Amino acid sequence: PTLRNPEEWCRSFSHFIAQCLIKDFETRPSVTHLLEHPFIKQAHGKEMALGQQLSTLICEQQDLGCKLKTKHERINTRKTLIIETSPDDDLVNLEFLDEETIIKHLSKRYDELQIYTYVGDILIALNPFQTLSIYSPQFSKLYHGVKRADNPPHIFATADAAYQGMVTFCKDQCIIISGESGAGKTESAHLIVQHLTFLGKANNRTLREKILQVNPLVEAFGNACTAINDNSSRFGKYLEMKFTPTGAVMGAKISEYLLEKSRVIKQATGEKNFHIFYYVYAGLYHQEKLKKYRLPDKKPPRYIENQHGKVMQDIVSSKLYKEQFDAIQDCFRIIGFTDEVNSVYRILCAILNTGNIEFTAITSQHQTDKSEVPNVEALENAAALLCIGPEELTEALTSHCVVTRGETIIRTNTVDKATDVRDAMSKALYGRLFSWIVNRINALLHVAESGMNVGILDIFGFENFKKNSFEQLCINIANEQIQFYFNQHIFALEQMEYQSEGVDASLVEYEDNRPILDMFLQKPMGLLSLLDEESRFPQATDQTLVDKFEDNLRYKYFWRPKRVELCFGIQHYAGKVLYNVNGFLEKNRDTLPADIVVYSLMDLLSKMVVGQPHFVRCIKPNDDRQALCFFKERVMVQLRYTGILETVNIRCQGYSHRILFEEFVNRYYYLAFRAHQMPDTSKENAVAILERAKLENWVLGKTKVFLKYYHVEQLNLLLREL
Ligand code: ATP
Ligand code: MG
Repeated sequence: PTLRNPEEWCRSFSHFIAQCLIKDFETRPSVTHLLEHPFIKQAHGKEMALGQQLSTLICEQQDLGCKLKTKHERINTRKTLIIETSPDDDLVNLEFLDEETIIKHLSKRYDELQIYTYVGDILIALNPFQTLSIYSPQFSKLYHGVKRADNPPHIFATADAAYQGMVTFCKDQCIIISGESGAGKTESAHLIVQHLTFLGKANNRTLREKILQVNPLVEAFGNACTAINDNSSRFGKYLEMKFTPTGAVMGAKISEYLLEKSRVIKQATGEKNFHIFYYVYAGLYHQEKLKKYRLPDKKPPRYIENQHGKVMQDIVSSKLYKEQFDAIQDCFRIIGFTDEVNSVYRILCAILNTGNIEFTAITSQHQTDKSEVPNVEALENAAALLCIGPEELTEALTSHCVVTRGETIIRTNTVDKATDVRDAMSKALYGRLFSWIVNRINALLHVAESGMNVGILDIFGFENFKKNSFEQLCINIANEQIQFYFNQHIFALEQMEYQSEGVDASLVEYEDNRPILDMFLQKPMGLLSLLDEESRFPQATDQTLVDKFEDNLRYKYFWRPKRVELCFGIQHYAGKVLYNVNGFLEKNRDTLPADIVVYSLMDLLSKMVVGQPHFVRCIKPNDDRQALCFFKERVMVQLRYTGILETVNIRCQGYSHRILFEEFVNRYYYLAFRAHQMPDTSKENAVAILERAKLENWVLGKTKVFLKYYHVEQLNLLLREL
């Protein structure tokens, strides 16, 4: 800092010291050390008095540093929130709100382990990447039927708001959790279920216990270790907690979407198969039941060996896998599964054996497209576990039927084709097993359709990888739909106030993603319909598909890159994504056609529209899963993806300050009247003040002045200049 006058110098220097202290408590500079600092030396040379002033200041700052350090240690050792509210608990309370301000506040709060922050009715949850003790029963009690502003923001407060909303207004509620992989959606969903079961104190303890087992069980089958998250959800989940009209829990229902079945047969480098396979293999090994379930005991089956390097030892010596197997057995038992669990294990083991079936070509004079199974052990195991004959299974894998002109012809499969059929069978078996488990859980937690519910949506976030395929397209379309829903809700609230005040609601402009959704969903010319149509042509190829898209999709959100073959690009609300059509047709044929799935998602969303929504936006502060590490740029990108910045924009474009005439005149009358005049708090006087202050773009409602976010700053500046 330049040394203009002692006061200013003092201020900037104290600021500098404060920065040092705050930044690094451990290397807090000593007084002597500081007195050696060039700034101080310079100051001493100039004026002794200032030097003394400085020494006092340094001591004060050190004191502050100590206090901060103690606070920091307190937070760190107890790993708990300080139960103190703060003005930035809800960022909407801040007078000035832009990207920088949001980031600054989030970062400061994160340093203090305040991982939760509100932006209006949205809860931002930063992943702490460490265990916090803020989810104990004491906290559950704290967040029980109180005003939101009475406590710091918390995921329990969101659950409580939904619960209170349901009981008070007899209206269904839904909590929509979004964010990218590893941001903390699933953890948040667990915490919400935990708090809702606490709030909806059912006399029936067993029911509560059952509900708490649902997530761990479903996640053992639907989650896997990925490069980003050791417990990544590979499906979308909507859990409805059902309550009686008086608010007692009476059951739960779960719906699943878009399970990533391709993971069963293949995983990317460094990734693993669904957890359950490892749990079962390790569990059966320790129970010495591998033989009973016809699993090899020298080398784990190929589907789980794939990326595993050290393989056998890794799996069977993992205490975690074995413990998880025991935990899953408990989940099954508590929820009420019976002997059928053995069938579940049989099917899982059949899938593992299926993966071990290999084919070789039979080459004879006339035939080169025939395959056989040279080693029948795995095939026999799989067939036995599925209770079918080995011949039947062989036939199903090595041949297929073609119907031509009403005649059924059996054709043989090449090695490649047989391998594909084998893997398709494994995927189908797993997909059906997963759906069966979900349905069974729903039947066991049987719920009468009457009553009210709080739904919790934990769905994969927007994905944009180096290579994006069919799965990413489905996920991103789902996210477009959720964003659409989010927009509608956020604008609806804003627009309601405009309408009741008689202000033109079209003044709220926002990025409407409806046209992008139309491009995907419209029939018969939307992208998904085109994909379905092409999937029905036996001769269709990746090339014909991408050409078809190009010929029919005349939207500015679609483009076909010149240099990259078999690719197309989409401008999503959250950014540009390049998709590779390789395998699209096959995957679309293999699963339920994408447009059916995406329509079922639409159903879900329309169901949610009826309920009152609550939004939780999970944010990953860094990619290294490090506690207390906040990367501004990463957070900024996610704020954009999750629509937080968009919400802020709405506030900026709309009239974020809506002040009653009375309050406005009382606050600002000095700008147009003499201090002793005390004008009437009328609409006319409000206008007089606005005109005198030369503000532009304001609007008058029936009872309020509608101001842009920057107006308040301008007005305050004028007041200060008086
Ligand atoms: P995906 O989309 O891959 O399923 P996700 O958003 O569901 O990711 P989670 O599995 O919920 O992410 O969280 C990833 C990890 O972050 C957790 O395993 C946990 O270690 C940590 N984490 C998330 N939220 C919290 C929290 N509130 N407290 C402590 N740790 C957390
Ligand atoms: Mg998850």
